[in-house]
Amino acid sequence: MKTRWLIIKPPDMQEKVFIGLSARVCGKSPEDAQICVLLTGKKEKVDIPYPEGVRVSVHSDPVFTSHDISLMGASLEKRIREREPDVILFPATEEGKQIAAWLAGRMGIGLTADLTDFYMDENGILHQIRMAYGASLQAEIVTCAGRIQMATIKMEREKADIVVAGGLGAGKEGFALLEELARLLGGKLGASRAAVDAGLAPFSCQIGQSGNYVNPKIYFAFGISGAVQHLAGMKGSGKIVAVNTDERALIFDYADYKICHDAADTARMMLACLKDARADGLC
Ligand SMILES: Cc1cc2nc3c(=O)[nH]c(=O)nc-3n(C[C@H](O)[C@H](O)[C@H](O)COP(=O)(O)OP(=O)(O)OC[C@H]3O[C@@H](n4cnc5c(N)ncnc54)[C@H](O)[C@@H]3O)c2cc1C
Repeated sequence: MKTRWLIIKPPDMQEKVFIGLSARVCGKSPEDAQICVLLTGKKEKVDIPYPEGVRVSVHSDPVFTSHDISLMGASLEKRIREREPDVILFPATEEGKQIAAWLAGRMGIGLTADLTDFYMDENGILHQIRMAYGASLQAEIVTCAGRIQMATIKMEREKADIVVAGGLGAGKEGFALLEELARLLGGKLGASRAAVDAGLAPFSCQIGQSGNYVNPKIYFAFGISGAVQHLAGMKGSGKIVAVNTDERALIFDYADYKICHDAADTARMMLACLKDARADGLC
């Protein structure tokens, strides 16, 4: 019998990004019945080409513009009970994670968060692979009780050669400068979880165990202490440049270049040098 997969696109994810997940599932289980369920606030036409074999179903309900997790979860629950899937996958966006957790509690389904990989065996068991203990171990998890196997999957962040990341120590002023620096260097902005929690950067920028994994050629860490959960997402970077006022900060143990100075001030000086060099035609 075919496995019935529901691959769900939360409202906070663009469809063209989501398509990568359906392609991944299709590649691993081409014979199975896959249905991508797009959660939207209004009826929309689907004009992005999905991989062959994937059926797309639009589940529209005005609650999907509310960003209210329990309303969105309840609307989706009805759909799930009708479809009776074997596997439910969500991309690990902020809303994807929250809706999945809400459904897990509500429907009594197990949930594995932040998969980095998965495969289906011949008995219809989904092997869910994720990092554990600060990315020092790879765990393989199977759902023993219940038929529905549910997980959230980490989506790879758009590749970038340079990531300019800030932590709590960068502050609001520092983050404005880091954003400009990332743009001028042609890189991406990153952030620690503490910075995201403090509202200094959006969740999509979070690097680490519960955010994105990145491995750019150069990773700038401004005002980031270097907690194990942050290191898990960036320690594979080519070169690490750390800026911190505390000379004993753990991040310095992993850095190729260490700058013991104020984060915002360092970013300001780097921007000024970069702009001068550009004006002189040096880069
Ligand atoms: C289950 C779990 C999952 C987690 N997942 C993640 C994750 O995905 N990503 C993540 O980042 N964290 C994650 N965390 C949180 C993690 O443990 C740390 O709390 C977090 O990384 C700390 O962020 P931070 O370095 O910005 O803040 P802090 O630890 O508060 O460090 C701030 C740093 O800034 C420095 N500083 C202060 N002022 C300045 C200044 N003016 N200029 C320069 N430096 C300055 C300080 O010396 C300090 O080193 C997770 C935690 C748990 C329990």
